[in-house]
Amino acid sequence: MSNALFNLSGKTAIITGCNTGLGQGMALGLAEAGCNIVGVNRRSPAETQQGVEAMGVQFLAIEADLGSTTPIAEIMHKTEQQFGTADILINNAGIIRRADALEFTEQDWDDVLDVNLKSLFFLSQAFARACIHRKGRGKIINIASMLSFQGGIRVPSYTASKSGVLGLTRLMANEWAHLGINVNAIAPGYMATNNTEALRNDPERSTEILKRIPAGQWGSPEDLAGAAVFLASNASNYVHGHTLAVDGGWLAR
Ligand code: NAD
Repeated sequence: MSNALFNLSGKTAIITGCNTGLGQGMALGLAEAGCNIVGVNRRSPAETQQGVEAMGVQFLAIEADLGSTTPIAEIMHKTEQQFGTADILINNAGIIRRADALEFTEQDWDDVLDVNLKSLFFLSQAFARACIHRKGRGKIINIASMLSFQGGIRVPSYTASKSGVLGLTRLMANEWAHLGINVNAIAPGYMATNNTEALRNDPERSTEILKRIPAGQWGSPEDLAGAAVFLASNASNYVHGHTLAVDGGWLAR
């Protein structure tokens, strides 16, 4: 990318859950802008690593399960060992469980909240502490959802977590903006990834959803790259606490 405002050369981004889907799309987008990537994953991120390194930047793979906060200290430590500092954090890892609210289990509640909200907050806290310690600028990008704005159906813990992501994005921005840390979120619309496989395979729900998207199609992982580069770069230095919808117009309906 030639525009200096969006150039991420020499920067390092930690991206959670980037072996596939939206995380992979954002990792490739940031790498194209010159950014080194630390990929935090439960599974091998081989495909993402290959794509990132093909753009001439470095990729560090860290294996971690963000169902608990235990790996957070090690994620920060390994990143600092290899790159000195992390400039950008993208909290993308997330899961969804579908069941009627009347049948929903405590396990499906806890599992989703632990990854989507608790680990997101404590990894952000560790990242912000490191930025403050080195007196450097930091960029946090949280991955929210249409269910940060709407109720949805059959996904109570997911809606709770993603509504929480929008609120926490504002809270962290309020506390950390004056320290040079930008906290913002991206709310993807209906994107073709593993997360929405069940919906896309349900002919009735799939038709219903597609009919409502003004752009007339499901989004793709590449569709998030531009928003991620913007929020990771100097182009967004005065943007704080915002949740940017990348949704083919869904919320405009
Ligand atoms: P995905 O299932 O393809 O990717 C989810 C990623 O999170 C994977 O890399 C997965 O391994 C990782 N992950 C899940 N649990 C983890 C754990 N315990 N520890 C470490 N990593 C873990 O789905 P996606 O659509 O690419 O989802 C990415 C993010 O985007 C999620 O937060 C999701 O909620 C959000 N989102 C997706 C859509 C959509 O339409 N696909 C819409 C709105 C928001």
